[in-house]
Amino acid sequence: MSLDHRLTAEHEELRRTVEEFAHDVIAPKIGDFYERHEFPYEIVREMGRMGLFGLPFPEEYGGMGGDYLALGIALEELARVDSSVAITLEAGVSLGAMPVYHFGTEEQKQHWLPKLCSGEALGAFGLTEPDAGSDAGGTRTTAVRDEATGEWVINGSKCFITNSGTDITELVTVTAVTGHKENGAPLISSIIVPSGTPGFTVAAPYSKVGWNASDTRELSFSDVRVPLANLLGEEGRGYAQFLRILDEGRIAIAALSTGLAQGCVDESVKYAKERQAFGRPIGANQAIQFKIADMEMRAHMARIGWRDAASRLVAGEPFKKEAAIAKLYSSTVAVDNAREATQIHGGYGFMNEYPVARMWRDSKILEIGEGTSEVQRMLIARELGLPA
Ligand SMILES: Cc1cc2nc3c(=O)[nH]c(=O)nc-3n(C[C@H](O)[C@H](O)[C@H](O)COP(=O)(O)OP(=O)(O)OC[C@H]3O[C@@H](n4cnc5c(N)ncnc54)[C@H](O)[C@@H]3O)c2cc1C
Repeated sequence: MSLDHRLTAEHEELRRTVEEFAHDVIAPKIGDFYERHEFPYEIVREMGRMGLFGLPFPEEYGGMGGDYLALGIALEELARVDSSVAITLEAGVSLGAMPVYHFGTEEQKQHWLPKLCSGEALGAFGLTEPDAGSDAGGTRTTAVRDEATGEWVINGSKCFITNSGTDITELVTVTAVTGHKENGAPLISSIIVPSGTPGFTVAAPYSKVGWNASDTRELSFSDVRVPLANLLGEEGRGYAQFLRILDEGRIAIAALSTGLAQGCVDESVKYAKERQAFGRPIGANQAIQFKIADMEMRAHMARIGWRDAASRLVAGEPFKKEAAIAKLYSSTVAVDNAREATQIHGGYGFMNEYPVARMWRDSKILEIGEGTSEVQRMLIARELGLPA
């Protein structure tokens, strides 16, 4: 495969449109939402009108007919300015809508995708549980078939679920044990639970270190009944489904991480030219210049990494290892760049009114969510054929 990481004219136009939106609409407002720990409905509505939530989906379902590369480009540009809105888009698309698109029946797609693509509704994906995170196969939530009523009866809980409790959240796809194989291994299946179903409780938002303008909640299910037709794909395929969803999602998180890393460069270049110390701009010092040069190098390499993985996905080629590498590398450099950018800003870097402070707080989760850095290393080692 020949790799050309430069953008087509169409992708470049998308990049420029989102870049402008991020600077003109998000940058002036997001700090206040973040301080108030408030979900930015008006910004999300605008993102919906721009078609961002429908980027990688076909037009017949209300999408923009683009691909994963387009989604990554949008996420990178959003995260250059703010990660809360970027993760709202990432989770809405990769975790909320993508499972329905990949595994849903035609009826499920027709029902859910148009509203998810328009951004009028948000979907969430509930995999993680209090005792099953990296080891998501340890799911304890159960769904029992009630043949008499034609329903699943769901019991259990999920934690840290993004976009699960906003005013516009309409569904959460949850993984649950629906039976056991002959060897005793659990059959994990994915089931769509519409918001507001009796017995389905959404807790108050967590108090988080970062991503403060995004929605993350704990969910509990107490005898929640949904129609048997809400099963997503085949029974017992839930484990394989979430592995696929997470493989793709890692590319999206890598693009988002690259955006944060680049945003740190943008802010540092600006500040290093303005801030005077010892009678000259701090950016005249080679120590500061070298820091910023290294930050730019890391953001650049991270971009090549996620675009390579996305190109493979779009071409229908294997991309598991490349997605794990991209996620591992870009999240590491996002944390590195956020630390250096804060340092370059001195005391002001510790003040929330400066975007780098927000970037610093938002960077750490990138090494944890959608597979920790240790999990990425496990995946890469497995792809290299090392013993399990
Ligand atoms: C803000 C936020 C949003 C999230 N959104 C979602 C969401 O929308 N949907 C969802 O399902 N989940 C979501 N998550 C959950 C996230 O994916 C998990 O937190 C993550 O996968 C890690 O799981 P854990 O927290 O249980 O950590 P654990 O699995 O308990 O891991 C703890 C530590 O042990 C390490 N570790 C575990 N096993 C091994 C091993 N075999 N070898 C070496 N090290 C190991 C881990 O890498 C980690 O450092 C979100 C989390 C956060 C914080």
